Amino acid sequence: MNTYPLSLRSKLPNVGTTIFTVMSALANEHQAINLSQGFPDFEVDEKLISLIHQHFQKGHNQYAAMAGVISLRETIAEKCNSLYGVEINPDTEITITPGGTEAIFSAITSVIHPNDEVIIFEPAYDCYAPAIELCGGVPVYIELQAPYFKVDWEFVKKHINHHTRMIIINTPHNPGGSIFSADDMLQLQKIIETSDIILLSDEVYEHIIFDNAKHESVLKYPKLAERSFTVFSFGKTFHATGWKMGYVIAPENLTKEFRKVHQFNVFSTNTPIQYALADYLKDADNYLYLPKFYEEKRNQFSEIIKDLPFKFVPTKGSYFQCVDYSKISDESDKDFAIRLTKEYGVAAVPVSAFYHRAKDNKLLRFCFAKKKQTLEMAAEKLQKLIP
Ligand code: GLN
Repeated sequence: MNTYPLSLRSKLPNVGTTIFTVMSALANEHQAINLSQGFPDFEVDEKLISLIHQHFQKGHNQYAAMAGVISLRETIAEKCNSLYGVEINPDTEITITPGGTEAIFSAITSVIHPNDEVIIFEPAYDCYAPAIELCGGVPVYIELQAPYFKVDWEFVKKHINHHTRMIIINTPHNPGGSIFSADDMLQLQKIIETSDIILLSDEVYEHIIFDNAKHESVLKYPKLAERSFTVFSFGKTFHATGWKMGYVIAPENLTKEFRKVHQFNVFSTNTPIQYALADYLKDADNYLYLPKFYEEKRNQFSEIIKDLPFKFVPTKGSYFQCVDYSKISDESDKDFAIRLTKEYGVAAVPVSAFYHRAKDNKLLRFCFAKKKQTLEMAAEKLQKLIP
């Protein structure tokens, strides 16, 4: 097809296909158990599926309102009120998006100008930096140390200057599995409360949090919430990553800018699913079981790997567990992940993929959002790592 020598200057010269796609493809090719890309292998609740059918049949099949179906936004406002004690205006402060990634992309695009600096904590989820770069912004990377991935706020303070426009936080953290405490939030608040810095808070794993810890949403902190885009995901919460459904909460001035971009990016989001979610979300039991449900999986996975030559601390939130394999091999994390897939039949993600310079800390990330049997099968295969 390519015969004309078209001159093409890539806008993202250093970006390739995401590691999640690469590792899932390799897992499929080798019929390995796929603990790489983060997605559940169990089914969505039948009740929710049948609600979607009902709304298809009711004829909810045309464009939804640009900001999202109002009944869904109202239900989200009620949920945030009961969980985080905050009053949110569903009309002016909530926008339904096709997944968390679109919300993050549109939020960044709506406020970042060329040369604006954006602080990102590494390891970082892979969609933040490309969005900043497409705006001509400058990602400023601050490294978090394994295995606890804690933020040193004094150090963050030193990286703030008059170019700093945004800080991106992610709690529970992917891939690190760490969570922010109330103290983290207050320290952050102290640093930015009298500045023009906007916060982008990726909280897509808000319900996947363990050991009775409470999720510290930005929404609980009025002085943070008034300058924040907070991003949530129905895919994570309702085991339906393939639906690409999420939402963003932001004060009116930020939401106004967000919607200017969102309307020309996707215009609106899947209508029948929004109606179904509006019904389903009304019953808090449909999500309040999640911490315990996933804690059991976290524990099962910890049990599986505790006698293997891995070093790890059990994850505090998200459905990911990072492990240090340096006792097993000197290979790069990428090579080791590939060999683990091909020779042992279990796929994981090399954590270097979450660093702009592919820093190799000899860490792999496993996703434990899997059926008991899947984890048992993985356990059996991983036993072969014992010398
Ligand atoms: N969020 C998922 C993960 O971290 C991947 C999503 C994707 O494949 N883009 O594994």
